Amino acid sequence: MSEAFVETIISLGSNIEKERHLPEAIRLLRRHRRIEVRKVSRFFESAPVGGPESAPDFFNAALLACTDLDPQELRSALRQIEEVLGRERSEDKNAPRTIDLDVAYYGSMVAEFDDWQLPDPATSEAPHVAIPIADVAPTWTDPVTGKTAYDLMLGVDAATEAVRPVTSITLATPYESRGPDEFDQTGDVYAPQLESIIRAELLEIGENPDREGLVRTPLRVAKALDFLTNGYSTSLSEVVNNAVFDAEGADEMVLVKDIEFYSMCEHHMLPFFGKAAVAYLPKGKIIGLSKVARVVDLYARRLQVQERLTNQVADAISEILSPHGVGVVIEGQHLCMMMRGVQKQDSSTVTSAMRGTFKSDPRTRSEFIELSR
Ligand code: ZN
Repeated sequence: MSEAFVETIISLGSNIEKERHLPEAIRLLRRHRRIEVRKVSRFFESAPVGGPESAPDFFNAALLACTDLDPQELRSALRQIEEVLGRERSEDKNAPRTIDLDVAYYGSMVAEFDDWQLPDPATSEAPHVAIPIADVAPTWTDPVTGKTAYDLMLGVDAATEAVRPVTSITLATPYESRGPDEFDQTGDVYAPQLESIIRAELLEIGENPDREGLVRTPLRVAKALDFLTNGYSTSLSEVVNNAVFDAEGADEMVLVKDIEFYSMCEHHMLPFFGKAAVAYLPKGKIIGLSKVARVVDLYARRLQVQERLTNQVADAISEILSPHGVGVVIEGQHLCMMMRGVQKQDSSTVTSAMRGTFKSDPRTRSEFIELSR
């Protein structure tokens, strides 16, 4: 990632319905458009510090992420996720909470804000914070002491809190980072809220979600859905990321065709898929060819209509390169048409979007249409 992205460590804790809230918070962080989660620690369990004896145990974790948010923005993003998960902040700092998200480190920044500081002092004082951080990023250097997270963990007085890895629940990894064989085997929980909705859906259609073949279906569907809609959590700048090059004198049409795409129609949430052709007439700037396909994916992996997908790709190329013109043609087959009544299995839909010279100059447009066939 470019210099604008900073590595950060976020610590997480929950002691109300923690089996649900901790995975859910991680999923929401993964889906945040400006936070890219790189690695998540194991879950650890510990007794609460300073609360009443009867208070429920905590689950804690830490994750390593990249972000282009500044520290204050990152902190507000965490507060928003806490709110979504029903966190109520009270006077009592030790009250049970659905979720607690803190910026533990933000690069090597040492800073003091109104009511918080960097690094979070808990990183060198609290075992339930230091241990997950050492688990996810043992070589991370604390900017104040110069010690690694691993050494800080050895230094905290672990006797005051018994922090132990949780074995009763494991977090499933997202779909995209694993091969299909592994995908079924590890992790029990991924997106508890979504999984329970999918389970309810199975019941609604008259299925038995507890039969062998369906037991893990909610988990699989949740992961697949997350992957197929990951365009919502990716930004154009993240996709393009430094792949725009100066190209003085380049004045020939650049065309990338036969770009395969898979999307879902927003009317039925059924797949539509096909091929895209993207062309532009450069004005001093070009982009890596593989990035063009990634721009298509960025917009295809959302709920879409084909016309909007076509326009969004054209606008994105215009935005990144400010070229003389852009042309996009997409040919798609829609399962919602192919599978139902009308049964026009062979029908396909062609949409196009022209910008700049592709719109104003018939010769450019027809050259593009000719070449894209
Ligand atoms: Zn449809």
